[in-house]
Amino acid sequence: MNYAKPHNSLRCPCCGEVRGPAEHQAFLKQVAKEVPEKTYITRRGILLGNVYWCDARKGLVDWACDECLQNGRALSAQPVKQLFCDIAPHFAYFDKAGVCRECGVAFTFSKGEQQHWYEHLRFWVQAEKVRCEACQQHKKRRDHFSQLMAANDYSNQEAVQEIIAYYLEEKEFNKAKQFLAAGKRNCGEGSSNFAVLDGLLTTVRQLQDSAQE
Ligand SMILES: [Zn+2]
Ligand SMILES: [Zn+2]
Repeated sequence: MNYAKPHNSLRCPCCGEVRGPAEHQAFLKQVAKEVPEKTYITRRGILLGNVYWCDARKGLVDWACDECLQNGRALSAQPVKQLFCDIAPHFAYFDKAGVCRECGVAFTFSKGEQQHWYEHLRFWVQAEKVRCEACQQHKKRRDHFSQLMAANDYSNQEAVQEIIAYYLEEKEFNKAKQFLAAGKRNCGEGSSNFAVLDGLLTTVRQLQDSAQE
């Protein structure tokens, strides 16, 4: 069985240089360890290489050449700590440029952050960062807010305060007022929560007035 010579080089996705087998030893060792027996063989019996190596040829794998790993431009990854099945694991991490899906601002998905995502938080390996830091934080807040709203619990004063704070931050005065009015109907006059909600409603009205002045 012969190695197909023309396929022996790979373009490093980190530095963009074409690297021969002697220059991607670390990657070769990693793929051999991950899938030692899975190889692509052509009908003529030519061994093209390990499946992940072949995926790397198609640009489907994050790996890095020995030089990038040595000079610290890339960080060596540990597939054993990642969640992957049909898609190849990450063999190396390197900074990636992205554009925020929500605000269009350019951001960097850093190598350290990627390692944290895939090896500590154990996100699926195909998960990609799509938002900048600010929009990510905003989304977290929005998700938390949606959870609070879904709970629809007017007796939880902390949750009510948080919901109102969110509305005020978003300058959604009318929604805040609707929410509090619904809460008052829900709790019934005379209850202690009714008084709290009524107090908040007054505050919201005042804030709305001063915002419009
Ligand atoms: Zn490289
Ligand atoms: Zn953004």
